[in-house]
Parts: sequence; C-alpha cells; structure tokens
Amino acid sequence: MQQSVIDTVGRQISGFVCPPIGMLVGGEWREARGGASLPVLDPATGEVIAAVADASPEDAADVMDAAAAAFPQWSATSPRQRAALLHDAFLALQERAEEFAQLITLEMGKPLAESRAEVGYAADFLRWYAEEAVRVTGTFRTAPDGTARHLTLRQPVGPCLLVTPWNFPLAMITRKVAPALAAGCTVILKPAEETPLSALQFAHVLTEAGLPAGVVNVLNTSRPGPLVETILRDRRIRKLSFTGSTEVGRRLLESAAPGVLRASMELGGNAPFLVFDDADVDAAVEGAVAAKLRNGGQSCVAANRFIVADEVASRFVDGLAERLRDQVVGPGTDPRSTLGPLINERQRDRAVGLVDDAVSHGAAPVVHYGTAGPGDAFLKPVLLDRVPPAAEIAREEIFGPVAAVYRFSTEQEGLALANATESGLVGYVYTQDLNRTIRAVEAMECGMVGVNRGYVSDASAPFGGVKQSGLGREGSEIGIQEYLETKYASIDARGFA
Ligand code: NAD
Repeated sequence: MQQSVIDTVGRQISGFVCPPIGMLVGGEWREARGGASLPVLDPATGEVIAAVADASPEDAADVMDAAAAAFPQWSATSPRQRAALLHDAFLALQERAEEFAQLITLEMGKPLAESRAEVGYAADFLRWYAEEAVRVTGTFRTAPDGTARHLTLRQPVGPCLLVTPWNFPLAMITRKVAPALAAGCTVILKPAEETPLSALQFAHVLTEAGLPAGVVNVLNTSRPGPLVETILRDRRIRKLSFTGSTEVGRRLLESAAPGVLRASMELGGNAPFLVFDDADVDAAVEGAVAAKLRNGGQSCVAANRFIVADEVASRFVDGLAERLRDQVVGPGTDPRSTLGPLINERQRDRAVGLVDDAVSHGAAPVVHYGTAGPGDAFLKPVLLDRVPPAAEIAREEIFGPVAAVYRFSTEQEGLALANATESGLVGYVYTQDLNRTIRAVEAMECGMVGVNRGYVSDASAPFGGVKQSGLGREGSEIGIQEYLETKYASIDARGFA
C-alpha cells in the first residue's frame, strides 16, 4: 500500500506515527473482507498519498457485532471513568496537535494554520464532554395527586452509527464521538471517503488512551450507500448521527425510518450575512472574510449570501474586494498560502458553474480571477455584486471562495431576503443598534446567529440548524442529550406515604 507522502510527513514531525490503514473492529486493525483498498488523494496535487481498507456491506456485521458486544460493559462504566478517558484523549490530541494538523492538510488541503485551529476545536469537544460526562442528571417528583413518586433517569441509547463529512476531518468526528462516549454509547464511525486518515489516527489515539475494544469501531468505504444501509437495517443499531449534505441526510432519514431510529442531522446551510446601514463596515468586512474564506468556503456555516444595506453596500464591496484580492492561493503546506485547494476538481467546477450562471443572470463580477491555480482543484476568490435572486447561487450552498452580494433598502426587506431559503443553519448580523439586533435575532429562521462576528463554532455552544439544515444539536450540555434516552419509573406511594 502506498504510504510515501505520509512517511515524508512523518519524518518531519517528531513522534509522528503513521496512521493505521485498516478498519478498526472490536479493537483489532484489519483489512476489509474483500481485501479492497481505497486511495486517498492530496487535493493540492491529485496524487495518491495512501490507501486504506475499503469496507463493503459484508464488513457491516462484524462492526455491528463489536459495537453491540461492547455496549453492556461500556455503558456500565462509571461516568468518572469515561470522563478520565476522554480527558486523556484530549491531552493526547494536544500533544500530537502538529501531527494531526499535517494530516488534515495533507488529505483535505486547508492551510496548516487552519488545520491547527481545527485540531484545537476538535480537542475542545473531548475536554467539554469529559466535563459533561459526570453531569448527567435525572429528576424525582411527587405526582400531583400524591399517589406516586416519579423517578426520571437518563440512559445511553445504545450502539450508534456516526457518518461524517470531509470538510473538518477531525472536528466533525470528535463532535459526535465525545458526547456519545461520555453518555455511555458505543459507536461505529464511518468517515468521509476523501479524508479517512485523520479519523483512523484519532481512533489510534483513543486506543492508546485505553479505550476498551469495540467501543469505537471505524470503517471507510468507497460505497457508503450500501454499507450504511446495511448497518441501519440491523436492529441492534439504536441511533444515527449524520453530518453532510441535506440531500444525503434526507435519504438517510428514510432509511432510519423502518427501525424508528433516533436521528441527529447536521446538514447543509445557505447562510445570510446581513449588514445594516448602521453597521461598523470595517468590522463587517473583517467578519465577512472569516465567514467566507475559512476552510476555503467549504463550511456549512460559510456566509453564502451577503445581504447589504444600500447605504453601505459600495464601501462593503470595496473593502471585501481588497481583502479577496490579497489572498494567496496555494498548497496548504506552504506557510504563505491563505487559501488552499478545494477538496477536488468536481467541487471547483461546481463553484465555477455557479459563478457563470450568476453572471449570465446579470450579477456584476467585481473580483473575478478565474480558475487558474497551481493545480486542478484551486479556485481564486470571486466577488459578485448585485446578484439577482433568480440566480442559482442564491439557492445553492456554494462551498467555495465565492462571495455573492445582494443589496436591500429596508430592514424588513433585508430580513425577508435572509429567510428566503429552505436552509436554516446560521445567520450573521452586523448592526450597532441593540433593538435591531434583538429584532433580527428573533426574526431569523436559523439555529445560530453571529452578531457582529463571523464565527459561531464553540464546543460549549449548541451547534445545529432549523428547516432543512437539520435535527438536533451538537456541543454544549445539549449535545450529550442526543445520546441519552429518558426512562421514567412510577413508584406507588402507598408503601411509604
Ligand atoms: P455528503 O453528504 O456527500 O457526505 C457526507 C457523508 O455521507 C460522507 O461520509 C459520505 O461518505 C456519506 N454518504 C454519501 N452518500 C451516502 C449515502 N448514499 N448513504 C450513506 N452515506 C452517504 O457531504 P460532503 O460533501 O461530505 O460534505 C459537505 C456537506 O456537509 C455540505 O452540505 C455541508 O454543509 C455539510 N456539513 C454540515 C455541517 C453541519 O454541522 N451542519 C458540518 C459540516 C458539513
């Protein structure tokens, strides 16, 4: 199996251990049943950097057996034991932060500085849920008529299937694994086929931290549909947690229906970024750069539609154009790069298609560097002004460094434009008026709002969307509830009343 680039990276980082390349089943690393392997590409060059075990539906029964067998014992461990293990994993991730950052950049492409930030964000979920593991509570109540006592307890839901995307190859995993383990669940993790290495290395770190066999099982596959369907049909699986596109999420909700599985869905966004006439425009430009360019725009919380008041639109557009022109597009491993490649050529072509369609509908290209870059997946930033709402880009999640500006005249019009989408993950608002802030936060149809900042992600905050952006929340004290079931016992009071 090809390991050359990974080996090269390894030699540059002290203590680097090459990620395992098999499937993790019941504590053992092994090949897929058919012996197939899945190539992993460097998005900056298109070169194969490694190959990992490519699981097929025939491997599903083994991981299911392992997760189900480990559940009784793991769910019976003390909260403090689970907390200690998560805390050890947090420390290990911090110690090995540089190694993980290099891996993320290698398989996903983002600049190293951003990969380092992702490792910090990912580790935070381990620390947060180490802290939350010991705070799961129940209630005790006297029935209103006094005839009974109601005891309410929270118990782990059981073995969970976790399906994650490629855009944050480590953080999207710890955001699910940490609360699941804290709650006492066992898991089967299926990472995105583009970015299996960070997931495998994370599983390796968990194993080293002493995680019992079968509590976390990992398998990668080039054919996610049949494998995931097979696991969802197994009556021992109790929950599905998915992060990815709305289209796949919808399909998986259908597949989860026959088993009446509990489901958490973190799906796509179409974030509005509202700049009102009283906004601090410089701060709005700063926030826009962060909300648009983080992860090369390949983030579910990326600002997708800049909705700007007529009075400040020209200043905002000029400021943003200047910042976009300053971007250095290049491989994520080059410290000068501020913008890496997109995940692949397909995503690049998709973004270019959206730009072309908008321009054909009459959008004004202010920054339009075209697609030239050091490789096929690179895209230089684009800024389109006065985008007509009929353009496809107004409805689609762009997932690239393309900023689309829409202008508005009244507050009502701005808010209506912001809500004119089936998505409802995040919205951003720039205003210095407190009353307007509250009106906007209350009116916006989304699960999260960034006020005068272009960033909302935090392990201590409930991340998630409304409308077609999903079900449930990740992070905060709410995130662990997704992995807990409520049980209630009614105790007859005659014996002790
Ligand atoms: P995707 O839906 O194509 O893939 C996500 C995961 O689903 C991958 O693991 C993939 O292998 C798997 N998958 C694909 N087809 C499947 C099928 N038929 N059955 C079962 N599993 C299947 O999404 P992506 O391109 O990897 O990620 C980008 C999307 O993820 C964007 O829409 C983005 O907004 C969304 N996202 C959302 C959040 C959030 O928290 N809301 C966070 C990150 C990304």
